[in-house]
Amino acid sequence: MANVEGRASPSFIIIGAGISGILMGIRLLENGYRNFTILEKGDRLGGTWRDNTYPGVACDVAAHLYTYSFARNPWWQTRYAKGADIWRYYHSVARSHGVLPFIRYGKQVEAADFDGREWLVRTADGERYSADIVIAANGRLHHPVIPDIEGAASFEGAQFHTARWDHNVAVKGKRIGLIGTGSTATQIITNLAGDVARLSVFQRTPQWVFPVKNSNTPWWRRLAFLLSGKHWTHYYLQLRGETEARGKATTGSTEARHLRDQVCHDALAAIGDPALRAKLTPDYEVGCKRLVFSDGFYEAIQKPSVDVVTTRISHIAPAGIVTEDGMLHELDVLVFATGFDAHAYLRPMQVTGENGMTLETVWRDLPLTYHSMAIPHMPNFLLINGPYSPGGSASVVGIVETQVEYLLQLIKRIVQRDVLIAPREDAARNWLEDVRTQARNSVWGTGGCQSWYLDKDGVPTLNPITLSDLQAQLAVPDFNDFDERPRAVTV
Ligand code: NAP
Repeated sequence: MANVEGRASPSFIIIGAGISGILMGIRLLENGYRNFTILEKGDRLGGTWRDNTYPGVACDVAAHLYTYSFARNPWWQTRYAKGADIWRYYHSVARSHGVLPFIRYGKQVEAADFDGREWLVRTADGERYSADIVIAANGRLHHPVIPDIEGAASFEGAQFHTARWDHNVAVKGKRIGLIGTGSTATQIITNLAGDVARLSVFQRTPQWVFPVKNSNTPWWRRLAFLLSGKHWTHYYLQLRGETEARGKATTGSTEARHLRDQVCHDALAAIGDPALRAKLTPDYEVGCKRLVFSDGFYEAIQKPSVDVVTTRISHIAPAGIVTEDGMLHELDVLVFATGFDAHAYLRPMQVTGENGMTLETVWRDLPLTYHSMAIPHMPNFLLINGPYSPGGSASVVGIVETQVEYLLQLIKRIVQRDVLIAPREDAARNWLEDVRTQARNSVWGTGGCQSWYLDKDGVPTLNPITLSDLQAQLAVPDFNDFDERPRAVTV
């Protein structure tokens, strides 16, 4: 049970020990707040880098940008890092910054109720915690979606989702069926093609692919990073510039967009077989779906052992997948690279704020937040990477660092004044309307595609903003946009 000692030692519950939760823990410690608990549903920290262990798992954002700004890592061996190396990095930062003792594993939060003064948090194993401030850092892409395809239960081979990869199942030399062609699937295809007897890729929609080169970083360069601040800074800024350009291409710069689009078109045009090229040619704008960055995807997909199946799936049979043309694609293993329920956000957690107001009520129409970080009627309940956070236009680490610095300013106010704060509903609605207008007009909304970015009304649920603009926007909170009142004293 977290101990509530009043404003001298405010108590916190952080939900989730992924990149955001670890960061929040580190920054709380650095600001002198030691009374916190991180509740993690899994048995290890690391969020997405714990869940995703599929062959080829990596991050297509340059590794040096995928690190906390205060814990740069000169030792990345390649420009883009493998998933296991990223997991090790975050684990080592959590350990070296003293966060590990604050994490409780196997604690899935089921409910958070505000009692007028503090939050009472219940986990699935029946434990109860109390805290002055709750910070939900549970991420967006952690509820795997497996489509309901007739006959799936009858399949005689192994089947699993990419985020639940079964490493007891051998894939080398086997006939693999892969449903999906998103960023996850393309990494798997690039890694597995050639190693398996046959890789049948069931593609509903082709992807635009931006080719990148994953170069090795020689030892002398890594050493130079360690020893020379100047060299380091130069390389970092160069990478940062590239990422900003990616963001600008998404958020509106015509020049950056043309450059990016041309690279994608040229890469596709280099495919030799016109029939395969036609299958892989999207009919929507570059950047509408999350752009795939890949070193080697087009080479892999052209290997003779890879089939791109574009005929729709009819059903699953004991021996494999049957497509609508009646053809049976015989398989030993079936992999669902079918993505995540990105719109669940905090759910299925039950959150009840002031005066019995539930999250379901506040979010009945839309997941209403103020700057993705606070919810009307939920005093002292904060979010990292909440609904409408930026996504494809900036690296997630930069985004969550920016948000955490903003939240620390809210926390300081809450603690110093011993108050309850929640955003005013009109301020949240104005902000949301503004972001939705920009999102609707971004390539995610106008590019002519379906993607996990879109909500049920077809409006992207991401904020199309570059990291530098986000940093400027969130530098100083406007407390006029918050309702603030003294914390009620319990007798
Ligand atoms: P995703 O982008 O949502 O892709 C899901 C794929 O499954 C799509 O190709 C989709 O087809 C297909 N699909 C879904 N239901 C289907 C059905 N019933 N029949 C046939 N196909 C079906 O999921 P993801 O690839 O796991 O990626 C999710 C997100 O994770 C990415 O957008 C990215 O943000 C993140 N990610 C990042 C990295 C990185 O390196 N940074 C790597 C992997 C993932 P449609 O396109 O037709 O819907």
